[in-house]
Amino acid sequence: MTPKGNGPIVVAGAGLAGLSAAVRLASQSTGRDVVVLEATAAGGGRARSFEHARSGYELDNGQHLMMGCYFETLAFLRTLGREHCVEFQRNMAVDMIQPGGRWVSMRCPALPAPLHLGAGLLGMRGLGLLHKASALRAGLLLRGEVERPDDNETCDAWLRRLGQTQPIRNAFWEPLIWGTLNDDPLVSSAAMLMAVLERAFLGTRDASSFGIPKVPLSKLYVDPALRYLAARGVTVRSASPLRGIEVGADGVEAAVLRSGERIETDTVISALPPKPLLAALPDPVLRDPVFADIPKLDTSPIVNLWLVLDRALWRGPHFVGLISSPLHWLFDRTAIEGFDEPGRVLVNCTISGARGMVDDRPQVLIDLFQAEMKRYFPGKPFTILESKVIKEKKATITHAAGTYQYRPETVSPVRGLYLAGDWVRTGLPATIESAVLSGHEAAKVVMARA
Ligand SMILES: Cc1cc2nc3c(=O)[nH]c(=O)nc-3n(C[C@H](O)[C@H](O)[C@H](O)COP(=O)(O)OP(=O)(O)OC[C@H]3O[C@@H](n4cnc5c(N)ncnc54)[C@H](O)[C@@H]3O)c2cc1C
Repeated sequence: MTPKGNGPIVVAGAGLAGLSAAVRLASQSTGRDVVVLEATAAGGGRARSFEHARSGYELDNGQHLMMGCYFETLAFLRTLGREHCVEFQRNMAVDMIQPGGRWVSMRCPALPAPLHLGAGLLGMRGLGLLHKASALRAGLLLRGEVERPDDNETCDAWLRRLGQTQPIRNAFWEPLIWGTLNDDPLVSSAAMLMAVLERAFLGTRDASSFGIPKVPLSKLYVDPALRYLAARGVTVRSASPLRGIEVGADGVEAAVLRSGERIETDTVISALPPKPLLAALPDPVLRDPVFADIPKLDTSPIVNLWLVLDRALWRGPHFVGLISSPLHWLFDRTAIEGFDEPGRVLVNCTISGARGMVDDRPQVLIDLFQAEMKRYFPGKPFTILESKVIKEKKATITHAAGTYQYRPETVSPVRGLYLAGDWVRTGLPATIESAVLSGHEAAKVVMARA
């Protein structure tokens, strides 16, 4: 590519936002070089995998679930030729287990959306009619017949306004809220939940189906993206953290690496989390209200337990939820990845919004897992052969009611600086889809101005 304008387009951060921005730029002809700067050796950010020598498995930093409404992510995977590596349900189905081992299962039939959800809720095994009917009331809201929540209303207040009973909250709403917003319904924004419900349940029936990667995350996204970029002449500089963005009267002038190297450019896409972005900006820029608001965004952790067990705890669905347990979801990675190893079952246990556990010692969490499995799978003794605890302390921003306004737009107040990352103002909670959407959006704006 021939450089045009002032220097290369610099993309800072090789998480999914930065990678999807760079891939989109590389897939079109901008006439400018693209350079990706990544702080770590491997990239992938919060969606990566690594070799775990003790167990011999490649483990994700955390189990990631997708939905059929991840349209931008699916487009990204198609570009990388990896769409086939995610297994989607034919129709949305969720299996939850109550203490004592009773299953509450929801199977949505092959009806057009949102009838499939209504029928799925009504047909839910293990839950009384009164509770199911209360969930159907929420359907009226989706059809615009009840006042919509704004960003200041919490999920808890909204669920109470809709008269949702505790059993339907436990079996349906709470797992959905913790899983998609990564925080407590008592603080999370109902408007953010609505954004999920609308995308998942008001479009096509496929939009609400869950998708599980059949391969570890770096094999799904990161390595194919790096290969794609290398093949198109995009330089990805790993272990090259951005230290500063120089800004003059006309906007961005240079990207400065921690090594002191200076790359002259008038265009930077920041795909960094809030903290390193703010650290890279000069003081006068930080006084702009857009940047001054960013520190008001808080973060929420996710804890993942990886366990190799000597036998399966359940058979059938690839993932199950635990009703009213501090441990939220269990994934059978042996079945998902198709391993054939008698006497070894790889299980992931995901705990969202895990504030109360993020400082616990790993053994405390493993002991908790053992105690909880006795409650949910009574009479099924098992032995833990290996374990690995991964704590992502800043897994996502929180979506506390009233905080959406602090998320910045793609086009920043600094000329030539564009913002990407799952936490920017995409209209979605901080998820893979938000990250990829933000990357595509930043690339689109840059291409339009190149
Ligand atoms: C445990 C866990 C489970 C999750 N589960 C799900 C799920 O089930 N479904 C879902 O949709 N989403 C899930 N998410 C959220 C999803 O992983 C994120 O939304 C997404 O990966 C964010 O991508 P990003 O590119 O915006 O940010 P990041 O992944 O944080 O990328 C930022 C990149 O910038 C780099 N960087 C930092 N500082 C610098 C610097 N100074 N210079 C250069 N580079 C720098 C970082 O190393 C990183 O590579 C989960 C997240 C976690 C942590």
